[in-house]
Amino acid sequence: MSLIVQKFGGSSVADAERVMNVASIVTDTYAKGNDVVVVVSAQGDTTDDLIDKANEINPKASKREKDMLLAAGEQISISLLAMAIEKLGYHAVSLLGWQAGFETSSAHTSARIKRVDASRIKREIDKKNIVIVAGFQGLSKYGDITTLGRGGSDTSAVAIAAAMHADLCQIFTDVEGVYTADPRKVKNAMKLSEISYDEMLELATLGAQVLNNRSVEMAKKYNIELEVLSSLKKASGTIVKEKSKMEKMLISSVAKDTDVARISVTGIPNVPGLAFKLFTKLSAKDINVDIILQSIGHDGKKDITFTIAKDRVDEAVECLKAYVETIGANEVLYDDTVAKVSIVGAGMESHAGVAAKMFEALYDAQINIQMISTSEIKVSVLIDAADADKAVSAIHAKFFD
Ligand code: ASP
Ligand code: MG
Repeated sequence: MSLIVQKFGGSSVADAERVMNVASIVTDTYAKGNDVVVVVSAQGDTTDDLIDKANEINPKASKREKDMLLAAGEQISISLLAMAIEKLGYHAVSLLGWQAGFETSSAHTSARIKRVDASRIKREIDKKNIVIVAGFQGLSKYGDITTLGRGGSDTSAVAIAAAMHADLCQIFTDVEGVYTADPRKVKNAMKLSEISYDEMLELATLGAQVLNNRSVEMAKKYNIELEVLSSLKKASGTIVKEKSKMEKMLISSVAKDTDVARISVTGIPNVPGLAFKLFTKLSAKDINVDIILQSIGHDGKKDITFTIAKDRVDEAVECLKAYVETIGANEVLYDDTVAKVSIVGAGMESHAGVAAKMFEALYDAQINIQMISTSEIKVSVLIDAADADKAVSAIHAKFFD
């Protein structure tokens, strides 16, 4: 007998039929003799709808009240799922985050899980209940309801798996697993049977929408094996774990992120300390910088170009324009019609020529590279957004065909 944590995302519980479908997956697992803890997200677009409702009344509402509202989405889905399981003749109990022992920081709308006191969940399992827990929420030390940030119920599921030493944590979603590229865009994309935590972490950060990156971080930290699989189609998914037993693939996946913008500050005086000051201005506004490129100085001047998330461009440009005047730099330019295309693979640590092969694919497709950045297991290029899908297909063909 095993303890299995199963997490279902919003699309998997979007309507009554899908809730019944989830109930049958869960009860099948239970009927095989396993203890089951289920974590669910809010149904379909519920969370977005709740945010709209709040904005209609007060877009500047306090974060405490936003959390109070947003947490309601998951209360609906857990109770409906419990009712569906009862209908199938099994015993289930639904628990809100605080009832399930989720203690979090008090950073409303982006709280961190501090501890999961799983004693109530254990008591319910001892009573032979299937336990259904509201994802995405917890309680601060002040006794207020908190939420973990968008997509946070993956992290709730992994936290329960860690606290209870679960044997497996299954993340059910509307895709069948992790693919070598987005299967809706690239015809030959293949489902991966396994991927390492580090590769998955890069992919989650690079815009692949399958798993929330905090959940992967936590799974790696506590060595929780994850399986990403579909709730709609019976098939094995992708296992995310420390090291894959197979020979390392040269690259595992090609990812695209169009949520980026490029900013250049030109004609910066070529003296020490200005890069430090410039990026300090951005970090003071909590604006994350990704790829950075600095030109070699000429005529006592240099340029710095970098990328940030698209929705922070206006703020960044405004703050830098004011600063640029004080240091006598030329101007601040930006472009938000760019995309970042990346390859991720543990195999590139031990193989030469991977980046060159990627660049060759881009050259063959006549796509110009604006910026490049690398890590041990990732190569990213910044290109024109209009070329992004073509680039992904060309790179995927180069490595996988
Ligand atoms: N319902 C929350 C959201 O939409 C949490 C989640 O889906 O994981 O962000
Ligand atoms: Mg959701």
